[in-house]
Amino acid sequence: MDKPSLCAIFGGMKQDADILIVGGGLNGPALALALAQSGLRVTVVDARPAPARAQTGFDGRAYSLALASKRLLNVLGVWARIEDQVQPILQIKASDGHADRGAAPFFLHFDHAEIEEGPMGFMVEDRHLYAVFLAEMAASPGITLLSGQNVVSQDIGANGVSVTLASGDTLSARLLVGSDGRNSGVALRAGIKRLGWDYAQTALVTAVSHPLPHHGIAHQFFMPEGPLAILPLHGGTRSQIVWSEGAARATAIQALDDEDYLAALRPRFGDFLGDIMLAGTRFTYPLQLSLTNSFTAARLALVGDAAHAVHPIAGQGLNLGLRDVGALAQVLIEAHRRGEDIGAADVLDRYQQWRRFDTTALALGMDAVNTLFSNDNPILRLGRDLGMGAINALPALRRRFIRTAAGLDGDLPRLLRGQQI
Ligand SMILES: Cc1cc2nc3c(=O)[nH]c(=O)nc-3n(C[C@H](O)[C@H](O)[C@H](O)COP(=O)(O)OP(=O)(O)OC[C@H]3O[C@@H](n4cnc5c(N)ncnc54)[C@H](O)[C@@H]3O)c2cc1C
Repeated sequence: MDKPSLCAIFGGMKQDADILIVGGGLNGPALALALAQSGLRVTVVDARPAPARAQTGFDGRAYSLALASKRLLNVLGVWARIEDQVQPILQIKASDGHADRGAAPFFLHFDHAEIEEGPMGFMVEDRHLYAVFLAEMAASPGITLLSGQNVVSQDIGANGVSVTLASGDTLSARLLVGSDGRNSGVALRAGIKRLGWDYAQTALVTAVSHPLPHHGIAHQFFMPEGPLAILPLHGGTRSQIVWSEGAARATAIQALDDEDYLAALRPRFGDFLGDIMLAGTRFTYPLQLSLTNSFTAARLALVGDAAHAVHPIAGQGLNLGLRDVGALAQVLIEAHRRGEDIGAADVLDRYQQWRRFDTTALALGMDAVNTLFSNDNPILRLGRDLGMGAINALPALRRRFIRTAAGLDGDLPRLLRGQQI
């Protein structure tokens, strides 16, 4: 990749790019592709060397992407390149469970056939998604990707921004976007505060293989210690596990060897897919809720985990991030077409207004669901069983849940409706 020119500069002088994106995880590349499609010049800086992440072996990381996120990826030209490696989620079954007794008979059941738009979500493996993001960015003349480069400081001026890399080089643009994850340095340096709390839970993430086919069914078992999600992967006989446990217990489980780890998982998982075997690397993620008190500052916007990190109970983190991407891209491209300054406060306000309420509502919703379900209190258990029974009995309410899971509710940006901006 070419080294950037060093024209760090404000006020009418030449800038390296229109938009400088710090963070090339998943939301950063998606935003870069959306902006470049409309002729904006984008530089993406990522601390990780691209080859370190772009490995081809399966490591167990996968995302459930809502139908609306699929539509965005489709417009960006990404979906066509991963389509034959994704697993549609055709049904979701949720039930109470106990470690020693397995899952109770399911008490919530969503079937994609209840909405006309198609499968409500898709399981996509990180290795496929990231590799295509890299290839599409490399093929886009409007995007410069600088991998293995750490941003260490930023300066915000009246007409532009500049950042300094650990190498000492500087880059400039009209707008700075932080997509640098849940410990966002861009947000921190801009004085944007975060609120949130630690769940004292850790997610154990891996993949298993099983002799019986999953038929595209996602399962969520609500254990008192935390939810266990079993998510169907491409091929029919592998599933991803997102297994939330109290932090101390998760540390102990992660320290076990593979056989003992499986011995701890099996009673929770049950035997409905036959005897399970490990089929991916074992990861742990401490779970936190973290929301910034603003999505924007002077000449700066945040997207994805940099703005919000939510509990993975409903697999919504990346989906929320892609909603940010869709909204910010639309606001910036429309402003650019009208000849407005894309870093102006009133332009960035439109993005903030669009996204902040939606995100806070969803994050707190996930938090409430986690509290309600990671609990063995008999009164809460009765309350939630009655509530779930009501949902099951009311097709209109159930359809509403399915549409929410598919990401189809609310004021959707054009990309999430499958339309060009
Ligand atoms: C257990 C678990 C399961 C999940 N499952 C799902 C799911 O099923 N569906 C779903 O939608 N979401 C899911 N999520 C959430 C999802 O993984 C995240 O929302 C998503 O990966 C965030 O992407 P991002 O691009 O915003 O941030 P990240 O992927 O964290 O990327 C941030 C990037 O910024 C770079 N960076 C950081 N600092 C600097 C710097 N100073 N200079 C340059 N670069 C920098 C880093 O190198 C990194 O590449 C899950 C999360 C967890 C923990």
